Amino acid sequence: MSERYARQVLFYGIGNKGQKILMEKTAVLVGCGALGCTSANLLVRSGIKRLKVIDRDFIEESNLQRQSLFDEEDIKRNLPKAVAAQKKLQKINSQVQIEAIVVDLNPSNIETIIGNANVVIDGTDNFETRFLINDYCVKHGIPWIYGACIGSVGLTMNIIPSKTPCLRCVLDTIPPFGATETCDTAGIIAPIASMIASIQATEALKILTENYDALSKGLFKTDLWRNETKRLHVEDAMEKSDCITCKQHNYEFLSRDKYSMATSLCGRNAIQILHPNGSKLNLETLAGRLGKVGEVSFNNFLLRLKIDKYELTVFSDGRSIITGTNDASIAKGLYAKYIGM
Ligand SMILES: [Zn+2]
Repeated sequence: MSERYARQVLFYGIGNKGQKILMEKTAVLVGCGALGCTSANLLVRSGIKRLKVIDRDFIEESNLQRQSLFDEEDIKRNLPKAVAAQKKLQKINSQVQIEAIVVDLNPSNIETIIGNANVVIDGTDNFETRFLINDYCVKHGIPWIYGACIGSVGLTMNIIPSKTPCLRCVLDTIPPFGATETCDTAGIIAPIASMIASIQATEALKILTENYDALSKGLFKTDLWRNETKRLHVEDAMEKSDCITCKQHNYEFLSRDKYSMATSLCGRNAIQILHPNGSKLNLETLAGRLGKVGEVSFNNFLLRLKIDKYELTVFSDGRSIITGTNDASIAKGLYAKYIGM
């Protein structure tokens, strides 16, 4: 065993045996924002075998305050978050197989992406994707770790299929951040994301080293600004509920064949548009065509078109993120006009 993991091996909860098991395991991270950057960093340093980083977005200046894997150079290079994260993480630990996947996780690609991973870590910012992860993981018996934060408040919970309640079982228990509170209105301080992601990474280490008895139970909630921490006991939620997912085995998010073509992105003044058949685009050809209508730049991963007050970012699978509007019809109009259906 290399010197690299010497301190971790000394730790009673891991040891040589735990480290060997860890080095055979695959983790999937969905969403590489504030939570994802920290948990990816910690897991890659711990020496897991493989990490898949899934993220649909690119890096913006307002991310740098809390998304610890990114820097100003990444923004200049217009890198998607997953790609920038992969490059940074690979420098940290060249022994780990790290895969950057720039997609919107949806029912059509989740099976290929998550496969039979050993753990899935939630770094998303929306319940639609979390319910999809919940459906897939409950159906396939894969543990996953919910995480969320806003302002100075953070939440996390382990979902171990058939052993603990799933996200749908406890949904009523999850304190709403308030209907109007989003990253837009409430903001966020970096330490809360760092703390919740550190807990997620610790729980992942326990799962991956098969220390199931050490797992945190229930829903953990903390407010770092108000210095309040509590653990909500949800253990009996599964017995009490007639959960659509883990009791009725109705995986409604997984079985949807139609999912929204246009999605408003949390706190971004932006809309994501999915290409109807996700066909591969030649970004260079597209750049040649759009050069006449506005300011265009592109790299191997994405193309950026600035036109009036809007910015269209197009990925090679045809997916686009249109900033400068929260109106789906405006975004769809711009997409149809410039990218085409
Ligand atoms: Zn359930």
